[in-house]
This record gives sequence, structure tokens and C-alpha cells, in this order.
Amino acid sequence: MATIGANLQAVRERIARAATLAGRDTGTISLVAVSKAHPVGAVEEAYAAGQRAFGENYLQEALDKMRHLATAEIAWHMIGPLQSNKTRAVAENFSWVHSIAREKVARRLSEQRPAGLASLNVLLQVNVSGETSKSGVAPGELAALAHRVARLPRLRLRGLMAVPEPTADRGLQRTRFRALRELFDGLRAEGLELDTLSMGMSDDMESAIAEGATLLRIGTAIFGTRQRREDAV
Ligand SMILES: *Cc1c(COP(=O)(O)O)cnc(C)c1O
Repeated sequence: MATIGANLQAVRERIARAATLAGRDTGTISLVAVSKAHPVGAVEEAYAAGQRAFGENYLQEALDKMRHLATAEIAWHMIGPLQSNKTRAVAENFSWVHSIAREKVARRLSEQRPAGLASLNVLLQVNVSGETSKSGVAPGELAALAHRVARLPRLRLRGLMAVPEPTADRGLQRTRFRALRELFDGLRAEGLELDTLSMGMSDDMESAIAEGATLLRIGTAIFGTRQRREDAV
């Protein structure tokens, strides 16, 4: 049962090593533990080991965990694709949404974010691999979307997120992450106050850190292999 805590420690050490190699301060890189397809007990174990930010892909599963962990001080991140008919529960229960690719979804989240809560932190998901099957806004459409989302009142546009195609090729990993960082830098140069670059998972976190990731979304390296087939990205 000590495994999750030990895994978390090993991941933190991997992050620190990669940051040092990249000449970066580890303190500028935050870790979201992706707990999808793992039971609430796994979240509790990571929480006991000091982890406070968790990522989930499926709304119902996330809500079930939140109900069990209502008194815990957790920042919940929605990282999975979002349908516009499910935005209300997301707006009411999450601190962050990483997967916005359409203005309609952003507008609904803004309208539905309860007045008593802080603004919802949002990231735009970008399709940096150019695969038709992947979700995310096309790079050429990103700037227009970003400027519209940045104006929505109950949202705070924090940055960009991407899930590039899985590959063991470090060079290709870095090419994809660099593309996202360049888009991020471009939007900042246009005056958007972005501070979050969500990129890097269990198998490519070193490449993401080398290219400037400020937020990593790590599942398998912390919680082990997921059982359910539909949880493959
Ligand atoms: C599942 C998932 C992750 C975590 O992936 P691992 O390879 O298990 O670390 C990160 N980001 C997104 C969007 C995911 O769906």
C-alpha cells in the first residue's frame, strides 16, 4: 500500500532531475496526478503523500470521487474531452479545465460557473500532431479562440494543453512540445497573460520539461497501469 507514495516520490525526483538538466527551477513545474480509472482509495493514498491536484477524464467518475473526498483540499482538473451538455457539473465542481477546444463550451462554462466560486481556470487544448482523430483546436484557429475565451467573465484563461501522439522518439516528442510552447509564447506576445503550459505525461515528461512545461499530467507512473480499455488516450 506504500506504492503510490513511493511512486509519487520517484516522479518528483524525475521532475527535479529533468528540471536541473534543462536549467530550470523545479518550483516552476506543478504536478497533476491523473487518477482516472483508479479507485478513490488511490487518490486518498496520494493525498496522504502530499499530493493536492488531481486530474480526471470522466465526469461521473470524478463526481463520485469528489463526494467521497468532500473535506479534502483538492484542486480537481478536468482533462478529458468535454461535451457541451455536461458543462454545468464541470463548472460547479472543478478548479481547472484543460480540454477546451470550442468557444461554445467555454461560453457555457462561463455562464454556469457559480458566482460564489473563484473564476474557473481554463486551458485551450491544441492539436499539435495534426491527426484528425485527436481533439483540440487546430494551431491556425488558436489565436482567435484564445482572444474570445480570454474575454469571458467567469473564466480565467491560463494557457495551453496538448496530448501529442504517443511515440518513443524523444526528438518527435520535443518537436510537438516545442510547437505548443511557441504557440504559447506567441499568444503572450499578443498580450494574453498566460502562465500555464500543460504538457507531459508518464512516458514523455522529460521532453516536456525540456521544452518548458509548467504543469505535468501524470497517471501511470503514480498509480500504475489502468484496467479499463476506454481509458487509453
Ligand atoms: C490519461 C491522461 C494522462 C495521464 O497519462 P499517463 O500516461 O498515464 O501518465 C494525461 N493527460 C490526459 C489528457 C490523459 O487523458
